[in-house]
Parts: sequence; C-alpha cells; structure tokens
Amino acid sequence: MISIERALSVLSSYFGFSSFRTGQENAIRNVLNGKDTLCVMPTGGGKSICYQVPALIMEGTVLVVSPLISLMKDQVDALHQVGIPAAYINSTLSSEEYFGTLENAQAGMYRLLYVAPERFDSPSFIQQLSKMEIPMIAIDEAHCISQWGHDFRPSYRMMSKVIGAFEKKPIVLALTATATPAVRDDICEQLRIDPEHTVMTGFERSNLTFSVIKGQDREKYVKDYVKKNEGEAGIIYAATRKAVDQLYTVLKKSGTPVAKYHAGLSDLERQSEQDRFLMDEAKVMIATNAFGMGIDKSNIRYVIHYQMPKNMESYYQEAGRAGRDGLDSECTLLFSSQDVLTQRFLIDQSQESNRIPAELEKLQSMVDYCHTESCLQKFIISYFGETDLEDCGKCANCTDTREAFEVTVDVQKVLSCVIRMGQRFGKTMIAQVLTGSRNKKVLEFNFDQLSTYGLMKDRNTKEVSDFIEFIISENYLGVENGQFPIIYVTEQGKDVLTNKVKVFRKGSVETKQITKEDP
Ligand code: ADP
Repeated sequence: MISIERALSVLSSYFGFSSFRTGQENAIRNVLNGKDTLCVMPTGGGKSICYQVPALIMEGTVLVVSPLISLMKDQVDALHQVGIPAAYINSTLSSEEYFGTLENAQAGMYRLLYVAPERFDSPSFIQQLSKMEIPMIAIDEAHCISQWGHDFRPSYRMMSKVIGAFEKKPIVLALTATATPAVRDDICEQLRIDPEHTVMTGFERSNLTFSVIKGQDREKYVKDYVKKNEGEAGIIYAATRKAVDQLYTVLKKSGTPVAKYHAGLSDLERQSEQDRFLMDEAKVMIATNAFGMGIDKSNIRYVIHYQMPKNMESYYQEAGRAGRDGLDSECTLLFSSQDVLTQRFLIDQSQESNRIPAELEKLQSMVDYCHTESCLQKFIISYFGETDLEDCGKCANCTDTREAFEVTVDVQKVLSCVIRMGQRFGKTMIAQVLTGSRNKKVLEFNFDQLSTYGLMKDRNTKEVSDFIEFIISENYLGVENGQFPIIYVTEQGKDVLTNKVKVFRKGSVETKQITKEDP
C-alpha cells in the first residue's frame, strides 16, 4: 500500500498545491492501490493531477492517451518546467523525432509519455510499447471510447488491445468530464473497470448563474449585455462562422474590443485572436465551438450562447469556461425554436447513420433544458447523473417570481389528443389538431372528427407548440426519434391523465375550462 502522504508531498513539491481536491485524492488512492478507476470530473476539476502525481511515484513510464494533439506539447512543456521528464508521440513529430522519442521511452527516460490514440491503429506501435515498463495507462477524454458519447473516436476501440499487450497488465485510469450514466457504463464495460471504482466529483459550479432567454432580438440582447458588462471578459458562442463574423462586425462597430475565432481563419489569425483575448486586449471573444479546448483563462465573467448547442455536454463544457476563478459568473443561452431545426439538420447531415438516434436523444435533452421551468443548474447536474440535488436558488428559473398556475387540464387536453391521434405524429401536427387547423393533412387523417380537435383554438399553433415543448421537458410526453420525431405519452404522463399528478406552469393562465358542450 502506498500512502496518500507520499502523494501529497509530490503534489506540493512539484506542483505547489497544498492539498488534493476530493476527487483527486480518491482517484489517486485507487490507482496507487492497484484499482482500475474511472474518474469523472468537470472541466477544470484537475484531472491531470490524477495521473501526473502517481506517475512520479510508480516505477516506469505512465502512458497518457489523449486525443487533444494541440494540447500535448503544452502539457509536456509544463511538466518540463517543473522538472518532470515527459514526452509525446503524435502526428506532428518528424520520423526522426518519433524514433528518438520511442527509443528514449524504451530506455525508461520519461515519467509520462503522451500518445495520440490514432497511434494504436498501428500494430507495430503497440508492439513497441509493450516493450516498455508501463505501470499505468491514463485514458483522457475517455468518453471518446463510447458510441453514446458526443465525440466517439474509433481508435479508442483499440484500447483493450493495448492494455492486453503487456505482460503485466497496467492499471487503467479513465478520465472524462462529460459522462452521462450510459457513457459511464460503456466506458467501464469496455475497459473492464469495476463501476464501483468510479470516482465522481461535483459537477455543480455554484458560482455560475444560468439562464435561458427566449423570443428576444438576439443581436440587440448581446449588444446591450456586452455594454452593460463593459470591461469584463466574456465569450459569445455562435453556431456558424457567418454568425461569428456578423456579430464581430456589430460589436466592433459599437466600440467593444472584440476578438473572433473559427475554423475559417488561418492558424496564425486564430493564434493571434486567442492571444488578444487571453491577454485581455480583447475583452470579448466571439467564436464557434472550435474555440476553448484547453483555454485556461480564469476571469471569464460570462458565456453567452447565441444559439442553442447540439447537446448538454457541449453546452456545459462551453458555459463552464466562465468563472474558473470561483467568482460569480453568468451563463446565458439565447434560444429560438429555429435552432432545433438547425441542429437536427446538422445531425442528419454529419453523423454516421447508426449514431443519429443517440445524437437526437441528446439534442432532445438540450431542448428540454431550454423549456424546463425547474432549476437549470439542477437540470444540468442531474443530466450528468448526480441525484439528491437542491435548487440553486439563483438561476433564471429559480428567481422567476411569476406565479405558477395549475395547467393540469391543459396538459390533459394535449395528452389525450396525442393518444387519439395514435401517438405517431410530431409536435406541429398535434398543435394543428388542438388549434382546429384546416390544414390538408389534418383533414386527410380525419382529425377534425376527433373530440380533441380545436380544444385549444383560443391559442395559436406557436403557443401550443411551446406548451408541448414544456410538457416534453416535464417528461409527460416523450419523443421517439425515427425519420421524424414522434411524440408519445410517457408513464408519468399517464399519471396526469388519471389525475394522480397536478402540473403547474409559471406565468401561464389555464384556458377557460369550458368545453364545446357548455352553454
Ligand atoms: P481538467 O483536466 O480536469 O480540465 P486541469 O487538470 O487542467 O483540469 O486542472 C485545472 C486547474 O486546476 C489547473 O489550473 C490546475 O493547476 C488546478 N489544480 C489542479 N489540482 C489542484 C489542486 N489540488 N489545488 C489547486 N489547484 C489545482
């Protein structure tokens, strides 16, 4: 048994920290005691320490698998600075550098060796590795191993082969920031980690205040917001390069010192824009999701999403770049229902077809986040599998002082309409039937004959669609993603239909409960 005191002294002498964060200590204790471990910590939680400290205690070279090629050099440089011998092997090395590093590694010259997963596609590389003394393999961004993850990388599938290649099996430490329960199970199964050996630390970031803003002129909102927060550092994420360029021009014109970042800029431009932001020359960074990986700027006071991102993992990772210094910071998402169509389109276009259902399910959770009236912080954290949570008390929903009205009867109207329509249609069609639309398709299916036809004709289709989104976000309706999204009544929904559960909605007045038969 190796004591945690030894690890603590390594922590303070090499890294200058006086104590471990809770998760770090548990993860390190596990691996030092020979347990394969899954470590789930939010971005900025301090995952690197979990393998860097053991690497200074264990005999041999710890292998670190990481897909973030652009960060490897920085990490290795940082280790050199504190006197830790380390190296990396990835596609940026010349063949001379590659063979030199491999030779040194085989001679045991490094404490840590970082490797890009693509290397494992080569059996001869795995063979070379197996000649080294590797006490532990740390697999960073371990969600990449899972088809259910948001960033599946086929090369990660080689991991079990790599682990099996050694005479003495190395300890496995899988690390990720973005694991939903399904992904966690998948990582454990594929790497044969006992799920009991999962170390998970608080996803809660209590200094962040979340809000979702709907139905606003987004450009104006951002202009006003930036002005109000003049002098503070912030990131604005937009979905497309075009939107980034456009916002950049608008804010620049209004006199804000802005920078921008997207894949359409040259490497040099991106670097210089990033530097301007990091050095506070430009206060506001407008960027696509290409920006931010590995950015360690602590004083970011706000992150605004100009459009809804494709899933909660991306959202929390991006929003979570605010407030790394622990000071109060704001995370705002500007939502428009158009965003859902855009993201659906992108998923349909870009994914391998077998991944589409999983991606659509993730998108649905993102949409639910935008429509929930419950605590936003709690929504996010429970998405990542933490339970027993309290309301944060400060997000836009917790502070929404509008009175909540009972909308049980309205929800029942929608649910019974969904059932009468056979639970095989999408939101728009359901809204059309409820509002009594004479749309051709509605008539074709004879839905004008249903008792629920026109039950909500005092509202327009948009209002009813929004209401359906609300019901979905409360889990009374579910969405099945086939070629088209189909809406069905969930088990919880059935409890509403049988009056076992009442539903409330803020700022909403129930429509008159007069049915057609009433005078
Ligand atoms: P992650 O990989 O989980 O995103 P990092 O390993 O990059 O996080 O660590 C994030 C920040 O936290 C770094 O600036 C690091 O120096 C700091 N940090 C890590 N562990 C500790 C600790 N025990 N005490 C204080 N700061 C720490």
